[in-house]
Amino acid sequence: DLWTSRGHIRFDGVRFGYNAATTILPDFTLDIPAGQTIALVGTTGAGKSTLAKLVSRFYDPTEGSVTLDDIDLRRLHPKDLRRAIVMVTQEAYLFSGTVADNIALGKPDATMDEIRAAARAVGADTFIEALPDGYDTDVNKRGGRVSAGQRQLISFARAFLADPAVLILDEATASLDMPSERMIQDALQTLLADRTAIIIAHRLSTVAIADRVLVMEHGRIIEDDTPAEL
Ligand code: ATP
Ligand code: MG
Repeated sequence: DLWTSRGHIRFDGVRFGYNAATTILPDFTLDIPAGQTIALVGTTGAGKSTLAKLVSRFYDPTEGSVTLDDIDLRRLHPKDLRRAIVMVTQEAYLFSGTVADNIALGKPDATMDEIRAAARAVGADTFIEALPDGYDTDVNKRGGRVSAGQRQLISFARAFLADPAVLILDEATASLDMPSERMIQDALQTLLADRTAIIIAHRLSTVAIADRVLVMEHGRIIEDDTPAEL
């Protein structure tokens, strides 16, 4: 049977550094209830991406633990972990292949109907259908070039199709034109529904839709509030 995560994340006394000489997170404790959307903000080097990497198990804590539904991530089967926690980063938006392949990355057995439904859910279907070969367009070929906003929409469709309990998103810093910005925000709200989300937020509009905003500095949370209180 497949294990299904509820998406409850907890950091418990986490200490972490990339090497013995420097500590990035001295003692980090945080409880993220299932279904909550967290916006992480703070100065460069504060440790936001490091937190995201610990949740995706790119690294393990030196001390303390990160748990999912009270299970230490180190005790989860890698397959269960990959299904439960999906990270969308700015660098890995697209790989060489068709638009359909790119959307189906986290679910290789997806049918064309499921791929289309995921694209439709996040509002990516219109521009995809307008590409020279639609879903079969090679994203690296001439004519297959897609804009920064469109790339982000494709990655949202991918995450929507994978349907993880926990979504981690390192939001793109690239500035978008107003219509794209609007589309991304709408897509994001659809994507966040019914799952836990940790978003390293660069847009004010993203901070506004979060349930909770964490401000980080030097590996610590210096503010933890609702967007309205900040
Ligand atoms: P930004 O807003 O610039 O993305 P951030 O809050 O995401 O910043 P992190 O990327 O978590 O910050 O980096 C925290 C600290 O860890 C920084 O001092 C950074 O130089 C260091 N660091 C990040 N990645 C590595 C790595 N792979 N090896 C060594 N040090 C690293
Ligand atoms: Mg970062």
